[in-house]
Amino acid sequence: MGELHIPNLELNDGNLIPQLGLGVWKLKPGDTERIVGDALELGYRHIDTARIYENEEAVGRAIEASGIPRDELFVTTKLWNTDQEDPHAAFEASLDRLGLEKVDLYLIHWPVPSRGHAVSAWRGLVEIVGSDRCDSIGVSNFEVEHLNELLRETGVVPTVNQVELHPLHQRRELRAFCAERDIAIEAWGPLGQGKTDLLERPAIVAAASLHGKTPAQVILRWHLQNGTIVFPKTSSRDRLAENADVFDFELSPDEMAAIDGMDEQRRLGGDPREVE
Ligand code: NDP
Repeated sequence: MGELHIPNLELNDGNLIPQLGLGVWKLKPGDTERIVGDALELGYRHIDTARIYENEEAVGRAIEASGIPRDELFVTTKLWNTDQEDPHAAFEASLDRLGLEKVDLYLIHWPVPSRGHAVSAWRGLVEIVGSDRCDSIGVSNFEVEHLNELLRETGVVPTVNQVELHPLHQRRELRAFCAERDIAIEAWGPLGQGKTDLLERPAIVAAASLHGKTPAQVILRWHLQNGTIVFPKTSSRDRLAENADVFDFELSPDEMAAIDGMDEQRRLGGDPREVE
């Protein structure tokens, strides 16, 4: 069993979520099974997948092989854009692929305003969370305008909003809006997806050398100290251990402020107003 001590956060529906987990986007099924197995062995208990990642079966196989009691795990999957008109069928299909009786968190993956089904999909998720097959529901890639529409039309507040968030894209307005409504923020691309020079920036490198940590650990620590939920993806067992070894140091207010100062509002992924 794992030795990690990853803290839980309490969601607005009272359920607990481990603040750090593993994301599996872009991992092929074979790699997913191996790396999720390694992660569970190391002590990770939170896995973030999605129907569109095409690796839900592999996540389920690794969970089953781990022998870890289901109630010690936190599994998230997501409703894909083209399934928004029938969330119940999509949810059941995800459960079947995962081989699980329930998921801990089910998210609408993107708002897809061009199709206009997000509100009806959300009503579907509200029915789903009323069953014993799903503990919590939330959204992903929702901007303030999309959240306002859900709240206005249904009055049901998502537990989380999973959005692109890293030091180069800090989403201050959206984070403040969510904080006021007790919607937890989950950061996707927390390390900048390996697409930028983020890990070489002076503020990050300086903090890393002062604390005897790596640049990736400093960035993850910045997220955690902001109260954000993270699940950095890696295909390497060594990096799995590195990314979870972030609970034995603390960035100073000056170090946090230096990273806060790096915001370039630079989006690496799709614009939620446009993704179809
Ligand atoms: P991340 O910011 O987690 O970056 C992953 C990249 O960073 C990979 O190239 C990985 O390489 C590298 N990396 C990981 N650990 C380290 C380290 N310690 N040092 C240096 N490099 C490292 O990007 P993701 O896009 O994967 O985001 C994380 C998760 O968020 C996804 O897996 C998915 O679950 C979720 N997500 C959700 C989206 C949504 O629309 N809701 C969109 C995108 C992601 P390597 O594998 O070689 O270690």
